[in-house]
Amino acid sequence: MAEPPAQGCALVTGASRGIGAAIARALAGDGWPVGVNYRAGREAAEAVVAEIEAAGGRAVAVEGDVADHSTPDGLFQAVEAHFGCPVLALVNNAGITDDDLTPTLTDQAWDAVIETDLNAAFRLMRRALKPMMRARFGRIVNVSSVVGLRANPGQANYAAAKAGLIALTRTAAVEVARRGITVNAVAPGWIDTDMTAGVSTELLSQVPARRAGTPHEVAACVRFLASAEASYVTGAVLSVDGGLAA
Ligand code: NAP
Repeated sequence: MAEPPAQGCALVTGASRGIGAAIARALAGDGWPVGVNYRAGREAAEAVVAEIEAAGGRAVAVEGDVADHSTPDGLFQAVEAHFGCPVLALVNNAGITDDDLTPTLTDQAWDAVIETDLNAAFRLMRRALKPMMRARFGRIVNVSSVVGLRANPGQANYAAAKAGLIALTRTAAVEVARRGITVNAVAPGWIDTDMTAGVSTELLSQVPARRAGTPHEVAACVRFLASAEASYVTGAVLSVDGGLAA
């Protein structure tokens, strides 16, 4: 088990399955005590924790709907109290889609996706930054999407949220760069998870690598961005998409 790059713990939102679960496992493998956030999937989150502990790591499952404005304080307090240290690595991974073409996209679908995929990340970053500034160390990684970089018909709400997340990442990065805190984004392409399970695989013909990515391939990039070695990488958007955005 490696030493974490700081005397702190990590919080990964939406870590009960998919990309978030892989990120939680990867950070724990680097020695971070990890808060495994979930909304509904308690059993799945507890299984991720058990897997991390079986591999010699430390983790705790923490319930919280990130779309709820009151969630950040409770979430951070639960993780900090459990491990007895501040959250010095935050991964905003929780995300949803609610697809439709723009002329028929409902206010409800627009609001739900913007709230979960963009507004929540802002609120969690705001809560994370104060202890990171005190520690003069912090790692924030936001999970955006290739759809924030190039058009995908039927995903106007998701694209707006993910492009907004990139702008938020860049702006926050330059605001806190002097304080030892890095803020970066990853932009996955098509990754094999529940989110893409029902989507036609025809789209894979557009991917230069001609295959879907795995959650582990995204997690490996997040792991690097959260590491001590990534100390001079900030405001960056790392595509993990088999060449789709190239
Ligand atoms: P997924 O398999 O659908 O898993 C989503 C995760 O987010 C679950 O753990 C879910 O928790 C959690 N979640 C959803 N809404 C939440 C909320 N309001 N509060 C707390 N947790 C919430 O999705 P995924 O494919 O792993 O995607 C993870 C991230 O990568 C998302 O931000 C997604 O937009 C992004 N991404 C995915 C792809 C892809 O191809 N899969 C590509 C680009 C970007 P519960 O199960 O407990 O509800």
